[in-house]
Amino acid sequence: MDFSSLGLSSQLLRSISDAGYQQPTPIQEKAIPEVLNRKDILGIAQTGTGKTASFTLPMIDMLAAGRAKARMPRTLILEPTRELAAQVADNFDTYGKYHKLSMALLIGGVSFNEQAKLIDRGVDVLIATPGRLLDHFERGKLMLHGVEILVIDEADRMLDMGFIPDVEKICSLLPITRQTLFFSATMPGEIGQLADRFLHLPVRVEVARPASAAETVKQALVQVPSREKRKVLRTLLSEQKVANAIIFCNRKREVDTLNESLKRHGFSSAALHGDMEQRHRLEVLENFKANNVQLLVASDVAARGLDIPSVSHVFNFDVPVNSDDYIHRIGRTGRAGREGHAFMLATDKDDKYLDAIEKMLGSEIPKITVDGPGGKRPQPAAAKGRRPTRAARKVEDDNRNTRGSDGATSVAEKGSRVAEKGSRNQAVTGTAKKDHRQDTPVVGMGDHVPAFMLRPVVRTNKTGSAANNDID
Ligand code: AMP
Repeated sequence: MDFSSLGLSSQLLRSISDAGYQQPTPIQEKAIPEVLNRKDILGIAQTGTGKTASFTLPMIDMLAAGRAKARMPRTLILEPTRELAAQVADNFDTYGKYHKLSMALLIGGVSFNEQAKLIDRGVDVLIATPGRLLDHFERGKLMLHGVEILVIDEADRMLDMGFIPDVEKICSLLPITRQTLFFSATMPGEIGQLADRFLHLPVRVEVARPASAAETVKQALVQVPSREKRKVLRTLLSEQKVANAIIFCNRKREVDTLNESLKRHGFSSAALHGDMEQRHRLEVLENFKANNVQLLVASDVAARGLDIPSVSHVFNFDVPVNSDDYIHRIGRTGRAGREGHAFMLATDKDDKYLDAIEKMLGSEIPKITVDGPGGKRPQPAAAKGRRPTRAARKVEDDNRNTRGSDGATSVAEKGSRVAEKGSRNQAVTGTAKKDHRQDTPVVGMGDHVPAFMLRPVVRTNKTGSAANNDID
């Protein structure tokens, strides 16, 4: 299927072709005709699937008819973070270049007054984080009863970040007759209930989670004592052919500490987390994209949804607590069919989270051992007695139940079974070290530098920074 069969205008087809896209992605193929038919959408898809264009493209055509009125946006897009909001704005710039659409971005870190002025004049598209939007509304700067289309993007992330009460409040201020497009990477029970409340006879559009991202990503797990983590990371960074890498930590404080430590050891590194000023975050990203800095030490929220092309390696300095974050993290590498490498450092305290990740993946992450810089070799998982995964424990339980009196599997037997798994360990200098990445540029799915990255950012004043929605 190509874009011309989706019912989009010729101007849009032109901008899509300018962007270098040849074919719609599966979510675009399924969602665009339904959005154009004014159907509510329940989209289950992650970043990286082309989901942003699946709602921005039809919206641009639908907005072509009609005009914006002062203070009454015609469409509203809610995003959990400033970066995601800015990326959506950039999508409108890219695809809407042959249309005359007005747009405002209501996010922390961007001048409140400038945005209020834009809204005063009337906007077709309002892209906002929930807290900042309510701020404007409560100051009487905005009326929401003219909203024809509402997009709730990354609903599961909104839930994680505690934004759902704000989203509910916003929905109660919108006309019931609006069209609602609701996207979430996962569908836990609470999100399902929200969708039921916000959507009217929605068309469900689901695309496979990019488990396919993992197909181009070689994963490896290193069991390591906590105090050795930094050392082992440095060894990996030195031994692997790291063109550039994102290193994920679970906490903001760890992001800063690790970044400083890497710099002290002579690595080219920068930190990215939600406490940093917006201007500084964009500067860091720009530097990373321009290869002025090789390593980006980041937290999940700051890095989620970022479209950074050609990252050769991802390091999970901490095992993520939320197993979905693992998929997001490793999805930063191996984009657009290139080969990527993802390493995870795990201590024996991480068993629970590691089990959850492996259960979600449906397989164990291959273990490797790494010689520490001081020559100290962390013990392989089996020897250190890492618990078998939940799946493995279930097999053991099943075996025990079917063995009758003989079934009292000894601890030694269990140990040897786990040790078998451990023997699959490969040396870090083995296959994981080969790098077959192509150097040819890839169009779409990653190589596009969002224009918002290149725009100067207005420094936040005290009032403007009041609503910082980004938590991590
Ligand atoms: P998203 O899932 O919206 O974050 O999109 C991820 C990346 O896919 C972005 O870099 C888009 O520019 C790119 N993209 C979106 N649609 C297409 C398409 N049909 N063909 C190629 N790249 C695309």
